[in-house]
Amino acid sequence: MTIPTSLNGFYANPLAINTNSTWIIAVIGRDILVAEGSSMANNPFIDSGRAHLLEPFCQRKITLGQWLSRDCEVWELTPEAAVIKGVSLVVLRDLLAVAGEEVFSLACRAVQLLGWQDTHRFCGSCGKPNHTTGKEHAMTCSDCKINNYPRISPCVIVLVTHGDRCLLARNASWAPNRFSALAGFLEAGESAEQALHREVFEEVSVEINNICYIGSQSWPYPGQLMLGFIADAVTQNIKVDGIEIAEANWFRYDQLPESMAPPGIMAGALIKHFVDQATLVYG
Ligand SMILES: [Zn+2]
Repeated sequence: MTIPTSLNGFYANPLAINTNSTWIIAVIGRDILVAEGSSMANNPFIDSGRAHLLEPFCQRKITLGQWLSRDCEVWELTPEAAVIKGVSLVVLRDLLAVAGEEVFSLACRAVQLLGWQDTHRFCGSCGKPNHTTGKEHAMTCSDCKINNYPRISPCVIVLVTHGDRCLLARNASWAPNRFSALAGFLEAGESAEQALHREVFEEVSVEINNICYIGSQSWPYPGQLMLGFIADAVTQNIKVDGIEIAEANWFRYDQLPESMAPPGIMAGALIKHFVDQATLVYG
């Protein structure tokens, strides 16, 4: 099977191609069981040579596609599997903080597909049981035949900047020193740009322009697609909404808060992009 080289070996395919060995993404709850001694960034997943150790604990399997020329599956395991020798349980968020792009995608895909099946067991139209289909990732109603696909919810995340400063906010539920870029879900009917203008104004009363798309990233809590942007502030006076945002401030590129998202996560990537650019201009 040939895939674009730009995908670096990751291919999100609902079908297996029946390779001799497979990669197993072992999930317990929402945490990931990784092979001890493996690289969390490059490939922490379990080789099917050890499948016999996991099999007694396996409750469900879903094909994820291919990774490094092998089929790849998520296995949902019971908590007892965490005691198997040679593996260790990692909190999903900790894995995502250090994962490379493809490992990040596979871990998100594994957790999201399990969660999607769990929450689509019955038809939303007629209430009859749904069942999985073999050809694609769809849950189909046994009666009215409606297909339900994995639900992906687009969100915008934006780092608002003004010269050598950027606007970072603290969510009301976060620890005192944790700040990040502003983010929110798209409303039905909105463009990403409209959502950006609305969210930034709702949360901090700032107006923006010169919106620049930086990139996108899956985020499995439970199924967001984060669309990342940088934008210029037209107004600089901050007035937080006091509900979702507890506190927001302008920070110079070389005086950022200590507790920030790592660059592998979209919020951190936006901040790094800004810091790199600002360092060239103001450094
Ligand atoms: Zn139905």
